[in-house]
Amino acid sequence: MNPTIGALQQHSQLDALDNRVLLCYALGINRIALITQSERVLSDGELQRYSALVQRRLDGEPIAYIVGQREFFGLPFEVSSAVLIPRPDTELLVELTLERTPVRGRVLDMGTGSGAIAVSVAHNRADADVTALDVSDAALAVAQRNADTNQARVSFLRSDWYTALADAPRFDVIAANPPYIASGDHHLSEGDLRYEPVGALTDHADGLSALRIIIAGAPAHLKPQGWLLMEHGYDQAEQVRALLSAAGYAEVQSWRDLAGIERVSGGKTG
Ligand code: GLN
Repeated sequence: MNPTIGALQQHSQLDALDNRVLLCYALGINRIALITQSERVLSDGELQRYSALVQRRLDGEPIAYIVGQREFFGLPFEVSSAVLIPRPDTELLVELTLERTPVRGRVLDMGTGSGAIAVSVAHNRADADVTALDVSDAALAVAQRNADTNQARVSFLRSDWYTALADAPRFDVIAANPPYIASGDHHLSEGDLRYEPVGALTDHADGLSALRIIIAGAPAHLKPQGWLLMEHGYDQAEQVRALLSAAGYAEVQSWRDLAGIERVSGGKTG
């Protein structure tokens, strides 16, 4: 006889939370139903679907890619292997951006990927004028769907950093979570990162090259007193502050994520 829903929760090779997510996804039911239907025996088709998903997870594929979704800033985001999986750390960047966006302010998200930052800002601030760019058409397609699903008004633009912005009106805040892992960093060949788009993770250089481009170009696209806010690696805050100071930004500072790590740095134009 096939196992019950309850039995599959007691005996799994997976982490308990991962297992529940895959069970729900395979059976098309919610968390509550896992409990209320715990005595139900799986059909052959359900068992096959579930087992295939478990195998993908055991092979190392991230849960978010298997189920095609990840929650970020309280909103559901579609994800695929074309985009980085949104991290909870990045919610700090959204909060800092929201705090610095004036009424009807203009916000730019550079390298938007799934659209996590731009869509979260626009969803919470219908008055704001949010632009998001990415060099990847595949990422922009995912981001556009996330904007639609989450009732967020965002203008998308295919652009290699600032190149396609030309003389667009200036912004109040520029936010970016660029690729900042140095080439050859061992994290790139471990865990979830093996499945994520390499161009979203590493600059194929020292980890700071995208941050340098963003810092150098932002003053030409920011209003006076505008803010540049960038996420970076756990050990890059001091270097990023030095780059910002050298480029003449004011009020240069870093902010800590929930783990207490300096995760976002930024500065203001004069
Ligand atoms: N925060 C991601 C990680 O360390 C990297 C994201 C990025 O390079 N922007 O897994």
